[in-house]
Amino acid sequence: MSKHRPSTAILTSGFDPALSVGSARPAVFRSSTYVFPTPEAAERAFAILGGRQQPEPGENPALIYSRFNHPNAEIVEAQILPLERGGAAAAVFNSGMAAIMTAIMAHTKPGDAIVYTVPLYGGTQSLIQNFLAPWGIQGVPVEGGKAEALDKAIQETPNCRIVLIETPANPTLTMSDIQSAVASAEKIAPRPLVMVDNTFLGPAFQHPLAIGADVCLYSATKYLGGFSDILAGVAITRDAELMRPIRSKRGLFGNILAPDECWILDSRLPTVKLRMYRQSKNAQRIAEKLVKHPAVRRVYYPTLFDDPDQIRIRLSQCDYPGGIFSLDLHGGKPAAFEFLRRLKVGRNAVSLGGVETLVCHPRSTTHSAVSAAELQISGVVDGLVRVSVGIEDWRDLLTDFEEALDHAAAA
Ligand SMILES: *Cc1c(COP(=O)(O)O)cnc(C)c1O
Repeated sequence: MSKHRPSTAILTSGFDPALSVGSARPAVFRSSTYVFPTPEAAERAFAILGGRQQPEPGENPALIYSRFNHPNAEIVEAQILPLERGGAAAAVFNSGMAAIMTAIMAHTKPGDAIVYTVPLYGGTQSLIQNFLAPWGIQGVPVEGGKAEALDKAIQETPNCRIVLIETPANPTLTMSDIQSAVASAEKIAPRPLVMVDNTFLGPAFQHPLAIGADVCLYSATKYLGGFSDILAGVAITRDAELMRPIRSKRGLFGNILAPDECWILDSRLPTVKLRMYRQSKNAQRIAEKLVKHPAVRRVYYPTLFDDPDQIRIRLSQCDYPGGIFSLDLHGGKPAAFEFLRRLKVGRNAVSLGGVETLVCHPRSTTHSAVSAAELQISGVVDGLVRVSVGIEDWRDLLTDFEEALDHAAAA
């Protein structure tokens, strides 16, 4: 582990230029297979891969084949660790869904159960309901932000192996208390793993592993990638042992991030914090101004929470409020659609976390397949638009939103 602070460590550790002929930036090692220095080194590498032998401290087993591991994955995994407070091991995947699926499959078997907060990212929700449940892994949903209900579900669900938390939740930013979920998990044996989808606020503003969570999961397609031009996922564990089965499943599934994508992701890591600070600052300025616009019924943003428990969680768990807010517009869907049509700087697209501002209508897009009962819980009403704020000048964005809202009010 580096002695330096994260912003320094990201630029000074995890990559040895000597292994890339002195190149200041890593080379891309676009090779599917690796030549062994000796047959003994090959035998040893396979024994370690199969878990029959353990590597000595400091030993770097020979690379074998790129489905298991490759230099660009090793580099980006080493460089992402300083960004995640409390992280001991990282693994990269070819999407956020691949990271989530592999982490779950590595730590459950048929007959086990997962307790999870709702709303959850649509893909994760569908993974649990439409794939894991028929596979024999039961999912137990609990409304996000309700620590007592979560505790009850953890205590009462037989064979609960994973508590999966997504906080803040999409699109209303409801927060769940990670520390209290960890305390609930600790009351039962064997202790279920607490996994947190940290895509919305991490790694800059929320640090689940530092407060007792076991696994941090990311869609690196979002803030980590930052430019809406790659698909990637990351799993980071507090204990390196927890990563062993995840890596082993990744080798079987073949969903490791490819060398070129690793190189791209690696080039984005030093600016994650800079971008996220700017996005959070922009979002806060705009969200707090839009509260007063007559077309707006409600703004969902962490600094605008009015529930005392939500305020408590935000203050104890998050450093900054982040770059995403949602607006509930008077006039429902026609107003929301008119708002989207009139935007000139913000673009109408799903996804989030890029340097450009993206706006979507969850009810008719990302949340269109969600049941009516769950829509009620998740607060996805017809007039809701979700905004992922970029790094543009916030005054141009504010003007863009205000003008589009004037039209929405007339719709
Ligand atoms: C986008 C997203 C995912 C899925 O990630 P992909 O990279 O699209 O596979 C998972 N969780 C959250 C919170 C997301 O926003």
